[in-house]
Amino acid sequence: MRKPVIAIDGYSSTGKSSISKIIAQKLGLVHMDTGALYRGVTYFANTCCQNEDGKINIQGLFENLDKIKLEFRNINDELILFLNGKDISREIRTNEVSSNVSLIASQKEVRDFLMETQRSIAEKGGVILDGRDIGTVVLPNADYKFFLTASVDERTRRRFQELTILGIKTDEKSVKENLIYRDKTDSEREVAPLKKADDAILIDNTNLDKRQTIDLILSHIHDI
Ligand code: C5P
Repeated sequence: MRKPVIAIDGYSSTGKSSISKIIAQKLGLVHMDTGALYRGVTYFANTCCQNEDGKINIQGLFENLDKIKLEFRNINDELILFLNGKDISREIRTNEVSSNVSLIASQKEVRDFLMETQRSIAEKGGVILDGRDIGTVVLPNADYKFFLTASVDERTRRRFQELTILGIKTDEKSVKENLIYRDKTDSEREVAPLKKADDAILIDNTNLDKRQTIDLILSHIHDI
């Protein structure tokens, strides 16, 4: 039997990636964190294409897109993102990347560039992709679609904790500002905005822990 294709979209720091990873392990699916891909392109842009004022030269990035090779490698059961052979899993979580990623992700050229990577992995089924436009644009025919949300304060708490564990210096105020800024930019952009697909199941996990959210999602998944 063909394994399902699952799309999990939602706001920043609703736990999409860590939840998807555990569901993938439980159901024997391949997981792709598509936010990491946009972060990877942003990290590349930060290093390759900055103007003198420190801002990203978007046109310069477009001209260099063909120099980007992003791949996930399975290391000790963790999918680690590599850019042109270099492990960038930590670099893509830094404030420099978080501040610029929504601008980069709003560019049609960048979204088109990453489309094939995302669609090709889903061709044979048996995948779970998490992001912002998976259920609406990347995989509109996914077998199951979920849309996660939670209060801004709860999401700030989670992201701050995650960054602290990673050893990335920040404070709750800037984490909150970044979440609000990214949600707004992601929702208001013209190309593939962040929004719930009409046929996605809405889950507000403000008062649910990771385990409860996973159980709720699994309760909707049948025939596997
Ligand atoms: O999921 P994460 O918070 O790491 O995503 C970082 C950013 O990448 C988002 O704020 C959004 O701008 C962009 N993104 C996107 N489409 C996706 C996944 C992420 O635009 N499918």
